[in-house]
Amino acid sequence: MHLMKDMGWIEVITGSMYSGKSEELIRRIKRARIARMKIQVFKPQVDDRYSKASVKSHDGDEAEAVAVPDSGILLRAVEKDTQVVAIDEVQFFDNGLVDVCRRLADQGKRVVVAGLDMDFRGQPFGPTPTLMAVAEFVDKLQAICIQCGNPANRTQRMINGKPALASEPTILVGAAESYEARCRSCHEVPR
Ligand code: ADP
Ligand code: ZN
Repeated sequence: MHLMKDMGWIEVITGSMYSGKSEELIRRIKRARIARMKIQVFKPQVDDRYSKASVKSHDGDEAEAVAVPDSGILLRAVEKDTQVVAIDEVQFFDNGLVDVCRRLADQGKRVVVAGLDMDFRGQPFGPTPTLMAVAEFVDKLQAICIQCGNPANRTQRMINGKPALASEPTILVGAAESYEARCRSCHEVPR
Protein backbone atom coordinates (compact mmCIF):
# COMPACT_ATOMS: atom_id res chain seq x y z
CA MET A 1 0.00 0.00 0.00
CA HIS A 2 2.72 2.53 0.83
CA LEU A 3 5.42 1.60 -1.63
CA MET A 4 4.58 3.78 -4.62
CA LYS A 5 7.67 5.53 -5.95
CA ASP A 6 7.95 9.17 -7.01
CA MET A 7 4.28 9.79 -6.50
CA GLY A 8 2.02 11.26 -3.85
CA TRP A 9 -1.39 10.00 -2.82
CA ILE A 10 -4.25 10.42 -0.35
CA GLU A 11 -5.24 7.93 2.38
CA VAL A 12 -8.50 8.37 4.31
CA ILE A 13 -9.19 6.78 7.70
CA THR A 14 -12.85 7.23 8.53
CA GLY A 15 -15.73 5.84 10.61
CA SER A 16 -17.81 6.80 13.65
CA MET A 17 -16.51 8.06 16.96
CA TYR A 18 -14.57 5.38 18.88
CA SER A 19 -13.90 3.41 15.68
CA GLY A 20 -10.15 3.83 16.16
CA LYS A 21 -9.41 6.56 13.60
CA SER A 22 -6.98 8.47 15.81
CA GLU A 23 -5.34 5.24 16.92
CA GLU A 24 -4.80 4.22 13.30
CA LEU A 25 -3.58 7.70 12.31
CA ILE A 26 -1.08 7.69 15.20
CA ARG A 27 0.08 4.20 14.16
CA ARG A 28 0.78 5.46 10.64
CA ILE A 29 2.54 8.58 12.01
CA LYS A 30 4.80 6.37 14.17
CA ARG A 31 5.66 4.12 11.24
CA ALA A 32 6.49 7.09 9.00
CA ARG A 33 8.86 8.31 11.73
CA ILE A 34 10.47 4.88 11.99
CA ALA A 35 10.99 5.07 8.22
CA ARG A 36 12.69 8.47 8.81
CA MET A 37 10.20 10.30 6.63
CA LYS A 38 9.75 14.02 7.25
CA ILE A 39 6.20 14.28 8.59
CA GLN A 40 3.99 17.16 9.69
CA VAL A 41 0.79 16.58 11.69
CA PHE A 42 -2.16 18.98 11.72
CA LYS A 43 -5.57 19.29 13.32
CA PRO A 44 -8.29 21.93 13.13
CA GLN A 45 -8.17 24.61 15.79
CA VAL A 46 -11.89 24.21 16.68
CA ASP A 47 -11.29 20.81 18.23
CA ASP A 48 -9.88 21.08 21.73
CA ARG A 49 -11.19 17.71 22.89
CA TYR A 50 -7.95 16.96 24.77
CA SER A 51 -5.28 19.45 23.97
CA LYS A 52 -4.61 22.00 21.30
CA ALA A 53 -1.28 20.65 20.22
CA SER A 54 -1.67 16.90 19.89
CA VAL A 55 -3.63 14.14 18.22
CA LYS A 56 -4.89 11.88 20.98
CA SER A 57 -6.87 8.65 20.86
CA HIS A 58 -9.51 7.59 23.38
CA ASP A 59 -7.01 4.95 24.51
CA GLY A 60 -4.36 7.55 25.36
CA ASP A 61 -2.01 7.27 22.37
CA GLU A 62 -0.67 10.65 21.39
CA ALA A 63 1.21 12.43 18.61
CA GLU A 64 2.28 16.07 18.46
CA ALA A 65 0.28 18.22 16.06
CA VAL A 66 -0.10 21.82 14.98
CA ALA A 67 -3.61 23.28 15.26
CA VAL A 68 -4.57 25.40 12.23
CA PRO A 69 -7.72 27.51 11.73
CA ASP A 70 -8.34 26.69 8.04
CA SER A 71 -7.13 24.78 5.01
CA GLY A 72 -5.30 27.78 3.47
CA ILE A 73 -3.15 28.22 6.56
CA LEU A 74 -2.52 24.47 6.62
CA LEU A 75 -1.25 24.56 3.02
CA ARG A 76 1.12 27.43 3.78
CA ALA A 77 2.43 25.64 6.88
CA VAL A 78 3.54 22.56 4.93
CA GLU A 79 7.28 22.69 4.34
CA LYS A 80 8.75 21.94 0.95
CA ASP A 81 10.71 18.86 2.03
CA THR A 82 7.85 17.32 4.03
CA GLN A 83 7.08 13.83 2.73
CA VAL A 84 4.06 12.90 4.83
CA VAL A 85 1.20 15.22 5.85
CA ALA A 86 -1.17 13.79 8.49
CA ILE A 87 -4.42 15.57 9.39
CA ASP A 88 -6.89 14.52 12.12
CA GLU A 89 -10.57 15.54 12.54
CA VAL A 90 -10.84 16.62 8.90
CA GLN A 91 -14.65 16.90 9.17
CA PHE A 92 -14.16 20.21 10.98
CA PHE A 93 -12.21 21.80 8.11
CA ASP A 94 -13.68 23.95 5.30
CA ASN A 95 -14.24 22.28 1.92
CA GLY A 96 -11.04 23.92 0.65
CA LEU A 97 -9.24 21.06 2.39
CA VAL A 98 -10.09 18.76 -0.53
CA ASP A 99 -8.10 20.89 -2.97
CA VAL A 100 -5.30 21.37 -0.46
CA CYS A 101 -4.92 17.57 -0.08
CA ARG A 102 -5.00 17.17 -3.87
CA ARG A 103 -2.29 19.78 -4.31
CA LEU A 104 -0.07 18.20 -1.65
CA ALA A 105 -0.50 14.76 -3.24
CA ASP A 106 0.23 16.26 -6.69
CA GLN A 107 3.48 17.62 -5.20
CA GLY A 108 4.47 14.04 -4.41
CA LYS A 109 3.51 13.99 -0.74
CA ARG A 110 1.71 11.20 1.08
CA VAL A 111 -1.40 12.73 2.65
CA VAL A 112 -3.03 10.74 5.48
CA VAL A 113 -6.31 12.13 6.79
CA ALA A 114 -8.67 10.90 9.51
CA GLY A 115 -12.17 12.09 10.31
CA LEU A 116 -15.84 11.35 10.82
CA ASP A 117 -17.72 10.40 7.64
CA MET A 118 -21.14 11.18 9.17
CA ASP A 119 -22.42 13.74 11.66
CA PHE A 120 -24.67 12.80 14.60
CA ARG A 121 -27.68 12.72 12.24
CA GLY A 122 -26.02 10.16 9.97
CA GLN A 123 -25.48 12.78 7.23
CA PRO A 124 -22.18 13.23 5.29
CA PHE A 125 -19.87 15.42 7.37
CA GLY A 126 -17.78 18.31 5.96
CA PRO A 127 -15.02 17.52 3.47
CA THR A 128 -14.61 13.84 4.53
CA PRO A 129 -17.01 12.30 1.95
CA THR A 130 -15.34 14.18 -0.93
CA LEU A 131 -11.90 13.22 0.36
CA MET A 132 -13.07 9.57 0.36
CA ALA A 133 -14.04 9.99 -3.30
CA VAL A 134 -10.71 11.42 -4.46
CA ALA A 135 -8.43 9.29 -2.24
CA GLU A 136 -6.34 6.37 -3.46
CA PHE A 137 -7.02 4.45 -0.22
CA VAL A 138 -9.98 4.50 2.15
CA ASP A 139 -10.30 2.58 5.41
CA LYS A 140 -13.75 2.76 6.95
CA LEU A 141 -13.48 1.54 10.54
CA GLN A 142 -16.27 0.42 12.86
CA ALA A 143 -16.67 0.84 16.60
CA ILE A 144 -18.80 -1.42 18.81
CA CYS A 145 -22.43 -0.44 19.37
CA ILE A 146 -22.79 0.24 23.08
CA GLN A 147 -26.48 -0.75 22.96
CA CYS A 148 -26.31 -4.15 21.24
CA GLY A 149 -22.65 -5.09 20.66
CA ASN A 150 -22.86 -5.14 16.86
CA PRO A 151 -20.37 -3.24 14.73
CA ALA A 152 -21.24 0.47 14.92
CA ASN A 153 -20.86 2.98 12.09
CA ARG A 154 -22.92 5.84 13.58
CA THR A 155 -22.23 8.47 16.20
CA GLN A 156 -25.06 9.01 18.67
CA ARG A 157 -25.20 12.43 20.27
CA MET A 158 -26.75 12.54 23.73
CA ILE A 159 -27.82 15.75 25.46
CA ASN A 160 -28.64 15.40 29.16
CA GLY A 161 -28.98 11.63 28.69
CA LYS A 162 -31.40 11.84 25.75
CA PRO A 163 -30.79 11.44 21.98
CA ALA A 164 -30.18 14.86 20.40
CA LEU A 165 -32.82 16.18 18.01
CA ALA A 166 -32.03 16.41 14.28
CA SER A 167 -32.57 20.17 14.56
CA GLU A 168 -29.63 20.64 16.92
CA PRO A 169 -26.58 22.37 15.37
CA THR A 170 -23.90 20.02 13.99
CA ILE A 171 -21.15 21.48 16.17
CA LEU A 172 -22.02 22.36 19.76
CA VAL A 173 -19.36 24.10 21.74
CA GLY A 174 -19.29 23.64 25.49
CA ALA A 175 -22.71 21.97 25.81
CA ALA A 176 -23.57 19.20 28.29
CA GLU A 177 -23.41 16.56 25.59
CA SER A 178 -21.79 13.21 25.04
CA TYR A 179 -21.31 10.80 22.18
CA GLU A 180 -21.76 7.05 21.80
CA ALA A 181 -20.97 4.58 19.05
CA ARG A 182 -24.15 2.91 17.75
CA CYS A 183 -25.17 0.65 14.88
CA ARG A 184 -27.77 1.54 12.23
CA SER A 185 -30.67 0.03 14.18
CA CYS A 186 -29.79 1.51 17.58
CA HIS A 187 -28.97 4.99 16.22
CA GLU A 188 -31.70 7.49 17.16
CA VAL A 189 -32.30 10.94 15.68
CA PRO A 190 -35.66 12.27 16.96
CA ARG A 191 -37.24 14.92 14.72
P1 ADP B 1 -11.77 7.68 17.05
O1 ADP B 1 -10.58 8.53 16.68
O2 ADP B 1 -12.35 6.94 15.87
O3 ADP B 1 -12.83 8.41 17.83
P2 ADP B 1 -9.95 6.48 18.95
O4 ADP B 1 -8.77 5.99 18.15
O5 ADP B 1 -9.79 7.79 19.66
O6 ADP B 1 -11.24 6.51 18.00
O7 ADP B 1 -10.37 5.44 20.06
C1 ADP B 1 -10.52 4.06 19.80
C2 ADP B 1 -10.53 3.33 21.16
O8 ADP B 1 -11.68 3.70 21.89
C3 ADP B 1 -10.62 1.84 21.07
O9 ADP B 1 -9.37 1.21 20.89
C4 ADP B 1 -11.20 1.47 22.44
O10 ADP B 1 -10.17 1.31 23.39
C5 ADP B 1 -11.98 2.70 22.84
N1 ADP B 1 -13.44 2.53 22.84
C6 ADP B 1 -14.29 3.10 23.74
N2 ADP B 1 -15.58 2.84 23.42
C7 ADP B 1 -15.58 2.09 22.29
C8 ADP B 1 -16.61 1.51 21.46
N3 ADP B 1 -17.92 1.67 21.73
N4 ADP B 1 -16.21 0.81 20.38
C9 ADP B 1 -14.89 0.65 20.10
N5 ADP B 1 -13.89 1.17 20.84
C10 ADP B 1 -14.21 1.89 21.93
ZN1 ZN C 1 -26.82 -1.60 18.03
